[in-house]
Amino acid sequence: MMKLTAPPQTSEFDVFGLNQTLIRDIDRIGWTQPTPIQAQAIPPVMEGRDIIASAQTGTGKTGAFVLPMVHNFAGGKGLRGLILAPTRELAVQIQESFEELGRGSHVISIPVYGGVGIEPQVEGVRKNPDVLVATPGRLIDLMMRRVVKLGNLKMLVLDEADRMLDMGFMPQIRRILHACPKDRQTLLFSATIPDGLERLIHGELRNPVHVNIALRASTAEKADQRIMVCDGFEKQPVLLKILEEEEGTVLIFTRTRIRAERLGRTLKQIGYKVARMHSMRTQAQREQALEGFKNGKYRILVATDIAARGIDVANISHVVNFDIPQNADDYVHRIGRTARAEASGRATTIVTPLEVGEVRAIEKAIDMKIPRFQGDGTPIIEIPPPPPQPFGRRKQMILPQSRLRRR
Ligand code: AMP
Repeated sequence: MMKLTAPPQTSEFDVFGLNQTLIRDIDRIGWTQPTPIQAQAIPPVMEGRDIIASAQTGTGKTGAFVLPMVHNFAGGKGLRGLILAPTRELAVQIQESFEELGRGSHVISIPVYGGVGIEPQVEGVRKNPDVLVATPGRLIDLMMRRVVKLGNLKMLVLDEADRMLDMGFMPQIRRILHACPKDRQTLLFSATIPDGLERLIHGELRNPVHVNIALRASTAEKADQRIMVCDGFEKQPVLLKILEEEEGTVLIFTRTRIRAERLGRTLKQIGYKVARMHSMRTQAQREQALEGFKNGKYRILVATDIAARGIDVANISHVVNFDIPQNADDYVHRIGRTARAEASGRATTIVTPLEVGEVRAIEKAIDMKIPRFQGDGTPIIEIPPPPPQPFGRRKQMILPQSRLRRR
């Protein structure tokens, strides 16, 4: 009798030539088709080419390097892959992607980052992982202790390279590049290529393929965005109204860590379940904040840009820019938190009439006009001109709860 067998399942990821164990893991985590950055970057990476890719968090860029690395390193022969990332949070998230996608292929990765004891990481590195996901400072520490040796490295990824430079990691990255074999493959992910980065990578990449994913198509387009205009002292009541009117998780960005701390405390006093994430918090506190936000213990996370870099939390309903970001790139990164690869969400930016210039710069970069509303929700065509200010720019205060009640 003829034996009936189920037709082999095909996956849209098959076109890349990834091994079947990996395809099964991709299937298991529910990715049905590659995102644009994956579609463009994976083929040259699989051919062994160097790439320079410009793509934001939220586009699926992590998959663009994790998938080829898992494919290449299945089977295990010691440390062959290194990913450098600017923050601990991003390093941990990349590591989590390796855990998910490398499960069937037994590709072992270890995250190493500062702000926590080095000994457990030394132990981890001694177990001979295939991949290290590292922040530059801690990696240098481990290299100086001769725990990490990069002599057999095959693939190096610089993730969010422009951020690493902004954060002052240039000397460390130089040292790390120097310690890597010359014939490695190098993948550079960076939103922009400023002069400093151009100089740093000069001669380090071999005839790289350029992959560009437009800002707008990637994230900005999918979020339901709005601008709410009010005076600086009205920001807090406007925020409270948003929090009362809507349910769901809210990620709030402030300009400085002090403002994040104050706003977080005030919201907590009011009775909201809120976590704070900024550079004055310890690593343990930041991890606890992120974990609590992910598992629903906290509805609100108040954060600064650096601390929130690359936060990957599914289903954030609303991103509120309590302070307008300093540049368009930060704007796209922030709202990318609510419009992840497959989802869309809301993004509200609270601005004062003095910030019209910043709004225009963002709109120019994302190539769209963001709808404007007054603080009470009434739509308006344009941001009204600021009232005359005899004493210069008025300070945007965050009031303690006691003062707020009296208003
Ligand atoms: P990233 O830009 O790498 O931080 O990825 C953003 C989010 O998109 C993460 O939650 C990923 O798990 C998810 N993601 C990445 N690639 C895909 C894909 N091909 N299909 C669905 N989700 C994806």
